[in-house]
Amino acid sequence: MKNNELNPELLESESSEYSLRPTNLKDFIGQESVKDNLRIFIGSAKKRRLAMDHVLFFGPPGLGKTTLSQIISKELEVGFKATSGPILAKAGDLAAILTNLQERDVLFIDEIHRMNRLVEEVLYPAMEDFQLDLMIGEGPAARSIRIDLPHFTLIGATTRSGMLSSPLRDRFGIPLHLEFYSHAELQIIIKKNSELLGILISSDGAEEIARRSRGTPRIACRLLKRVRDFAVVNDSATIDKKIADMALKKLDVDENGLDSMDRKYLKCIFDFYDGGPVGVETLAAVLSEKRDTIEEIIEPYILQNGLVQRTARGRVLTSEGYKYLGVIPKNGSSELYDGELL
Ligand code: ADP
Repeated sequence: MKNNELNPELLESESSEYSLRPTNLKDFIGQESVKDNLRIFIGSAKKRRLAMDHVLFFGPPGLGKTTLSQIISKELEVGFKATSGPILAKAGDLAAILTNLQERDVLFIDEIHRMNRLVEEVLYPAMEDFQLDLMIGEGPAARSIRIDLPHFTLIGATTRSGMLSSPLRDRFGIPLHLEFYSHAELQIIIKKNSELLGILISSDGAEEIARRSRGTPRIACRLLKRVRDFAVVNDSATIDKKIADMALKKLDVDENGLDSMDRKYLKCIFDFYDGGPVGVETLAAVLSEKRDTIEEIIEPYILQNGLVQRTARGRVLTSEGYKYLGVIPKNGSSELYDGELL
């Protein structure tokens, strides 16, 4: 199992999570190009007094997709309704939400790649023509009616862009890709959140937590709270580098922000498959994890750090990966895979 502290999918309790969310673009740290684009689209929609075009956010969990969606509705000064792909079991569930929207509202659908196909088909005319096709009755007496919907903005969020059908993807006018955060950006977020939570933290303490937060604000916020617990118990008034390091070691978060599950994943490729290539299904079976967990939680940060490459034939350790494990390639060659990368 993934260390809970480093699982970007686990949500904090509602109250603490929401109180830390920035509420306008100015206070949202990082993602500069995404924010620059959004400022233009929001400004234009407001001036024209029309619904903004549909937005699709791509990116690993915990990077701020939900937060940015809420910010968009606030900046547009319109209502915000949220749901998620797996919750929308039937076409009728989505129809009920769509018919309750007000003109120019934002509808946020999280994990939109996990929406059922029948529900997805209701979305197409709704997104394109703001119309809803409903079937009334059954059998030979069944007939279809069309209902006009208010002009709304759909914001979809997905961690798996590859799993989105192309008709759905093509209907989003504004696709935006969220990137992992730099250490400096995370350090600012940690500083801000410690102020909000009334925690004293030194710059090197914030830097230490930032470095080990896998480029993810949700993890940074969580580690900050856990390190605070260690500081409280140790009677340290301020979180400094030493206490942060001690606490993170105890939490099994290493210098690079990797935990035992990440190391197990890397070691598995080395120990059993001589550094790869090995397919993700095989890794999932050997590690007793779901393929989704490997692809959505474990791999994005490992790939981003260049410890593993994804190739047409499977996952392969890179020279950085060998260095991290402190081992040398078993086949004697220091480098590595020269086939096609994905
Ligand atoms: P996602 O929807 O991508 O999984 P969220 O929007 O739920 O991510 O963000 C996760 C947490 O990280 C929230 O508590 C939010 O307050 C915090 N967060 C995300 N991005 C930022 C940011 N740029 N600045 C400050 N906090 C952020």
